[in-house]
Amino acid sequence: MVEGQGQLTVITGPSGVGKGTLVKRLLERNPRIWLSVSATTRSPRDGEQEGVSYFFQSRERFEALVADGGLLEWAEFAGNCYGTPRDPVEAKLSSGRPVLLEIELEGARQVRSSFTDAVQIFLAPPSFLELERRIRGRGTDSEEAILRRLARAQEELKAKDEFDAVVVNDDLDEALLRLERLMGLH
Ligand code: ADP
Ligand code: 5GP
Repeated sequence: MVEGQGQLTVITGPSGVGKGTLVKRLLERNPRIWLSVSATTRSPRDGEQEGVSYFFQSRERFEALVADGGLLEWAEFAGNCYGTPRDPVEAKLSSGRPVLLEIELEGARQVRSSFTDAVQIFLAPPSFLELERRIRGRGTDSEEAILRRLARAQEELKAKDEFDAVVVNDDLDEALLRLERLMGLH
């Protein structure tokens, strides 16, 4: 790692595994961590706020960001585009803050090739049935979106061994402690 640079951590895992829940707890307990806000072409879900959950963009605006090199990585997921704005991540790392990206598999692979010092963590469900139960229990997605997300989840789970560590999100508090340890927080 370059002297004085913040640590970059990437968290990847299938939709519904509990990434959002865990990341929220992680940030509450560790306010120094800076979570990157992604750009997406997906429509906002109930309660999601522009600039907090995501920067919600039209396809055209998203494509312009890609063309201008404004994204550090990007990927298509379940019919929508998602990407990490480059400038804020580089600025926070330079200022020494720990930076967290919560992104899907293709994006994690892109980051792996450009940020070799990043810690890459795969969050896995205790079982596939439990994953389905969580996605359905969340109640935010249409049946079509749920089926697409479950199909994608099966692909993502196959790639878990590419990561520096696999954390199983069974007991939330245990998973949180494991994450903090992997991020060097204690
Ligand atoms: P993701 O961000 O990975 O798509 P969410 O954080 O939205 O997943 O979690 C999906 C659902 O699973 C939510 O209803 C959440 O409350 C629930 N959940 C998250 N972690 C756990 C856990 N350790 N045990 C049981 N339910 C969980
Ligand atoms: P959701 O629609 O549930 O918010 O997110 C769908 C998937 O997109 C999740 O796996 C999430 O981690 C991923 N994702 C969110 N932001 C980004 C991003 O900036 N880049 C990439 N590659 N994936 C992202």
